[in-house]
Amino acid sequence: MSLLEIRNLDVRHGLLQAVRGVDLSVEKGETIALVGANGAGKTTLLRAIAGAHLPAGGNVRFGGTDITLVPSHSRVGLGIALVPEGRRLFSQMTVEENLILARSAGRKGPWTLDRVFEAFPNLVPRRKAKAGNLSGGEQQATAIGRALMTNPEILLLDEVSLGLSPLAVDRVYASLDTLIHGGTTIVLVEQDLRRAMRVADRIVCMLEGKIVLEGKRGEITREQVSEAYFGLG
Ligand code: ATP
Repeated sequence: MSLLEIRNLDVRHGLLQAVRGVDLSVEKGETIALVGANGAGKTTLLRAIAGAHLPAGGNVRFGGTDITLVPSHSRVGLGIALVPEGRRLFSQMTVEENLILARSAGRKGPWTLDRVFEAFPNLVPRRKAKAGNLSGGEQQATAIGRALMTNPEILLLDEVSLGLSPLAVDRVYASLDTLIHGGTTIVLVEQDLRRAMRVADRIVCMLEGKIVLEGKRGEITREQVSEAYFGLG
């Protein structure tokens, strides 16, 4: 049984159907990168997994349970954590306060404040700083740390590198590598194809709301993904 099983999922924004008949299974411990052009439906699919958009059709099973209609706040308690695009921290609260607040929403498990600071050492000197005063990279680290504080079974990351300096992106990905090697299950949306193909076990390419190509790292080429990306395949 897969950890996450999505079958024939449709998600609409009003008249616009952003996700069309998507089937996707995610195994425990796997890292999946969702790639595709702007507007392909990646964010909508990720948010649908988190329960932020309820589907117009199809179903979602998590750990064998049908969660299709379970609202997002209850999904956190089931072990599904989303790091949204734009990070959405409480800017007037400190790093530590943002992290502690998340703990109450989540489940019991191994993630503690100390462990988050171990995973993101650049946050250690900033723990008492207000989130609004952090650099983009520090904010992203805090946003990922906040998700980890809920002790997720699966971590959903939406464009973690957006707007960060190359150095900050490297730092965030170095921490993600540690999480991945520690066995965390991850689905991430990443615009940078090269990075996506380096970090993920499996690449899933979307075009106009559908999955048009998927394959394991090493089994599909960048050329194939690029072609699918632009609908040339
Ligand atoms: P991006 O990389 O630009 O975020 P994406 O692949 O993540 O693209 P989505 O953000 O999921 O794509 O968008 C899919 C389609 O749904 C687009 O046409 C977008 O304009 C539309 N859309 C997304 N969110 C909403 C919303 N809240 N209301 C209306 N339309 C939306």
